Amino acid sequence: MIDLRSDTVTKPTTDMRQAAFDAVVGDDVYEEDPTVIELEKLAADKLGKEKAMFVPSGTQGNQIAVVTHCQSGQEIIVEETSHIFYNEGATIAAFAGVQPRTIAGERGVMDPQAVKSAIRADDIHFPETGLICLENTHNRAGGAIVPLENMQEIYNIAQQHGIPVHLDGARLFNASVASGIDVKDYAACTDSVQFCLSKGLGAPVGSIIAGSAAFIDKARKWRKRFGGGMRQAGIIAAPGLIALRTMVDRLADDHANATLLEDGLRAIPGVTMENTVETNILFVNTEKAGLTGEQFSEGLKSKGVLANPAGPYTVRFVTHLDVDREQIKLAIKAVEEVVGEK
Ligand SMILES: *Cc1c(COP(=O)(O)O)cnc(C)c1O
Repeated sequence: MIDLRSDTVTKPTTDMRQAAFDAVVGDDVYEEDPTVIELEKLAADKLGKEKAMFVPSGTQGNQIAVVTHCQSGQEIIVEETSHIFYNEGATIAAFAGVQPRTIAGERGVMDPQAVKSAIRADDIHFPETGLICLENTHNRAGGAIVPLENMQEIYNIAQQHGIPVHLDGARLFNASVASGIDVKDYAACTDSVQFCLSKGLGAPVGSIIAGSAAFIDKARKWRKRFGGGMRQAGIIAAPGLIALRTMVDRLADDHANATLLEDGLRAIPGVTMENTVETNILFVNTEKAGLTGEQFSEGLKSKGVLANPAGPYTVRFVTHLDVDREQIKLAIKAVEEVVGEK
């Protein structure tokens, strides 16, 4: 199977498995796991933040950030199709007790003036704005890169109002590799950052959240409350170290493969592209082929290609380290066949 459903399907490399085997471990709830500590130091360093913390998933990392920054009864500004709003089971409401104020972005990019207008004035009727969330790359916008200048503008506005900014950077390293902008520069426009080790970077499990020392110290308690305090977590942090040290630059290959896929599919009448590839995600519209996303996905599966339906007439393809150029060419052929057989 050529699995293009998500970059989360990547399997740990032999090096990662060996590192897990060899990892020196301790009880991380006591902050005694040297491998976790090493990973957290490296991650904080890379992002230019004071401290970082290893968490089991991106979702938990985002939710810890929201609950750490906010108080119950506040409102948070989120992009309308952001993962935090769209894909996290309303945890912001269930756990943090905040309500979302959504802003429709353009390719995932919010207009700074719209963000400014959405910030609540001091009024007895209003919730306070407790947090502004950004997402880079933006998943549902097709792996779109949010420009650094946009983030800077929003951060300036946030600072003028004393509101913290959280970045859902599940794929921040994809943005960095594609744009040539250091992750530090993106992180500098935020008070906290979450990024995934378990997506394109290829680690089996885990995410990082990073921020000021005070933020992480408070977040550590929330992680424990959420059940995310892990014991000999060095076993899974060790592959994360390899991911951060050796798997970043190769994301460029995934981006080249996504472009190869896009170019191939643009030549096929019957499918149209819903986004221009910027990183490793491509949304393909199947309506002209007379097939729903679901049906198209089924058709592809019968030809050995997996891609997730992502809307009534949409299929999503994500490239990653376990798919090479030759397999991309086979995937293009499979799409051609599915369109042809209809
Ligand atoms: C995948 C993803 C997450 C969540 O990560 P999990 O580890 O799957 O919980 C958060 N935000 C974005 C933008 C993502 O793509």
